[in-house]
Amino acid sequence: MGLIVAEGITKDYYVGVTSPREKFKKDIVAENITKDYHGGEVTVRALKEVSFEIEPGSFVSFVGPSGSGKTTLLNLIGCLDKPTDGSLTVVDTNVLQLNRKQAASFRGNHIGFIFQDFNLIPVLTVFENVEYPLLMVQNVEAGGRKKRVMSLLEAVGMEEQRDKYPDQISGGQKQRVAVARALVTNPKLVLADEPTANLDHKTAYMVIELMKRMRDEFETTFIFSTHDQKIVGEAEILYLLEDGELVSKQMKEGEVHV
Ligand code: ADP
Ligand code: MG
Repeated sequence: MGLIVAEGITKDYYVGVTSPREKFKKDIVAENITKDYHGGEVTVRALKEVSFEIEPGSFVSFVGPSGSGKTTLLNLIGCLDKPTDGSLTVVDTNVLQLNRKQAASFRGNHIGFIFQDFNLIPVLTVFENVEYPLLMVQNVEAGGRKKRVMSLLEAVGMEEQRDKYPDQISGGQKQRVAVARALVTNPKLVLADEPTANLDHKTAYMVIELMKRMRDEFETTFIFSTHDQKIVGEAEILYLLEDGELVSKQMKEGEVHV
């Protein structure tokens, strides 16, 4: 036995624009999250002591069969609900302490949502749909709003359709508008609960590619859930949920058990 035993030592040097502090910041820190739903006499334990961390700019997927807890978990991250037990920090904020009003404001400023069925507002144009979150939560004057909306529509290739209504564009185009709308407030995180569930393979793949390109362009963290085998391989980090438990974490390079 030597005087010094060193095992598994790693030393990283950070160069370039990212400071070490920024590098070590996490977008999400979840520790032992448990979520119970109480319905009459039965209690459903939807999540069991789930722990994970997500770094800024990640492209992450929670994967698992129906009923495994994906929606429950995304709802907790999106501050739409609170865990029964455990701790959860989202963008350096202990979100369990937020009241309803604070949670709404936190969501408006930090989180974008992409819904399964696009959820575009039928009486608003493409432009107005993307503008909507800015009117709701952020106090941006008209000129600034127009600039912001148009830059997002350009980013998703929908600037020429700006005056069309949702029923005048295709499913794939609607999803592009939904991605632009999720990003318009410049959120740190975008959450998408089974965003490709109702799409054909080609459109599903395009949506995932678009989200990845937006992650690269805006450095937004994307977290989506899916039970769709076709797109599972597109995530860079993949968490597998089974019956409310996080059973594995897979990175593009290989698999790490949690
Ligand atoms: P997934 O999105 O992976 O299909 P969910 O998070 O929707 O899974 O559901 C996880 C478990 O929690 C399931 O057993 C489901 O029936 C239950 N569950 C979800 N929402 C509720 C609720 N509001 N009340 C009672 N049980 C619920
Ligand atoms: Mg679900």
